[in-house]
Amino acid sequence: MSIPLRITLTMAQRLAVMSPADNMLRDPAPLPQAVVPLASWLTDAVTPDQRWAKLLIAQPMAERVELQLGGKRTVSAAAIPGLNPAAARKLAQVIGAEWVWLQSKAGRTDACFSGSRSRFTLGRADVLAAQHGGTLEKTLRNRGFDFAIPQWTNVDRPGWHLSNLGATCHCGRNLVLVDWWHAEAPRRANSHFVACSAHGIVGAVEGAPWRNLVQLRRELDAALAVQGPAARRYSVYVVEVLGLPRSSKRPVYVGMTSKPIPVRLEEHAIEGHPLQGRVFRKAKGGRVGQLLAEETKSLPELRSQLAARTAEAWVAEVLRLRGFDVHGGH
Ligand SMILES: [Zn+2]
Repeated sequence: MSIPLRITLTMAQRLAVMSPADNMLRDPAPLPQAVVPLASWLTDAVTPDQRWAKLLIAQPMAERVELQLGGKRTVSAAAIPGLNPAAARKLAQVIGAEWVWLQSKAGRTDACFSGSRSRFTLGRADVLAAQHGGTLEKTLRNRGFDFAIPQWTNVDRPGWHLSNLGATCHCGRNLVLVDWWHAEAPRRANSHFVACSAHGIVGAVEGAPWRNLVQLRRELDAALAVQGPAARRYSVYVVEVLGLPRSSKRPVYVGMTSKPIPVRLEEHAIEGHPLQGRVFRKAKGGRVGQLLAEETKSLPELRSQLAARTAEAWVAEVLRLRGFDVHGGH
């Protein structure tokens, strides 16, 4: 099992932080201590050695470590025993690192952004963003959208990205999420919107389920954008759940796996299997029904566990909004 990662970053922050490394931090140093990365993909003007020298002045107890990331990637970091989260964040700011990993008592690894943004230069941020998309007008035109674009100052900057939200407009067309993948996005109020090809910006995307759907889609896009060429393939699957008491909502189970889907489906039927799923336990009475392959066919290739996990959560939310009784789909 990998360590659960509590995701508190915005999309743009995550892209900046995760790229080019996967975010799965394995085997962190023993507890309790803070782990501050010395490498930065945003401000490479300062080298890890320079950060290390600065950090040692403030924290003579620090130890230099190589963190094992997903795959074979490593990142140079400093481990500091007994440092609390606030102090660790401050330290990251002092040495010009954008972010800091903290190993908490519960054994969770939290990725946090220290917020030291003063080192950004427009040139670099725009270069980074341009890898993900052009200006808003160009991005929309490339996809055949010609609705009126908002009068925001950032629409002429690169990094605009479109994705399928997974929900439909009242007119029946698919809604798209238009998102600005840019290091400055976290500081801006106007960095994303939902649009219909016929109606333009949809203002009525309010309420918790919608916000949740948008957030999940952003997380999925971020995970897809930074997944490596790993050999591992993951699938997200949706199956009917049979045998439950009759209700107005159709019950489905959403899961993700690195195994062939038929193998994974068989596991749901094995009583006491650690991955059986609550709804399939004898006491709950659910049985695995038909695989609903249609529901996942728009997903791209999933090559990291994070991408698969977020895809699973997004698919579950899409189905929930469409009125299914959704089980699984963490
Ligand atoms: Zn519409």
